[in-house]
Amino acid sequence: MATIAHNLQAVIRRIARAAEAAGRETESVALLAVTKSHPAAAIEEAVVAGQRVFGENYVQEAVEKMDILAQQLGERRARELEWHLIGPPQSNKTKIVAERFAWVHTIERERIARRLSEQRPAHLPPLNVLIQLNVSGEPSKSGVAPGDAAALARIVAGLARLRLRGLMAIPEPTPNVERQRKQFRVARGLFERLRADGLDLDTLSMGMSDDLEAAIAEGATLVRIGTAIFGARERRAALAPALKEG
Ligand SMILES: *Cc1c(COP(=O)(O)O)cnc(C)c1O
Repeated sequence: MATIAHNLQAVIRRIARAAEAAGRETESVALLAVTKSHPAAAIEEAVVAGQRVFGENYVQEAVEKMDILAQQLGERRARELEWHLIGPPQSNKTKIVAERFAWVHTIERERIARRLSEQRPAHLPPLNVLIQLNVSGEPSKSGVAPGDAAALARIVAGLARLRLRGLMAIPEPTPNVERQRKQFRVARGLFERLRADGLDLDTLSMGMSDDLEAAIAEGATLVRIGTAIFGARERRAALAPALKEG
């Protein structure tokens, strides 16, 4: 079954072409492989194909797979993997998140950021975090309003055990590339303003399977790709009970 390895190469080529079209270095765009709802065996295939950086949305599901991979790959190889949380860090799970993840893309509340900082174990480097922006303007969507992001960024940047690396955005899905780009531009504009204000940011997490080209054209430094690598996901309700959030 070489499908995952094949898909991974195809995505890496898409990223390279998009970067080239934007006049950017391929190396300026990192690939986060998004594995929610896919089994540990699929992650293992991606690891064998050379991928090291993985994103999960649900804490319990992620930790179960991390433990399986530690057995399958061995502790040492499993430790080389880098895990990013890209779903909301519920307040009753911040301790596990602080202990098991290297990055959290979904900071939108000061209270959660403070807990993550307090709970980050002393033997680990600071937890890398991104502030999630609501770029579509729909009130139902996650993320902070662009107008509120600078104040939260100042607070998060001052927390001892967190390292604020930048911003994350999930635009409203649309096949219209100009509308995709317009939403990504909101994130990029704010990212540049925060940097001009003196925050040391290097990561703009935006772009998924269907819009990675538009995101890279607008300056994404990390794209989060699931479907194009691992295939379509089953709906969560169809997953085994063990994978449901406790
Ligand atoms: C599921 C998910 C992705 C991956 O989306 P695809 O369309 O499958 O590439 C990226 N980012 C977030 C926040 C997600 O929840």
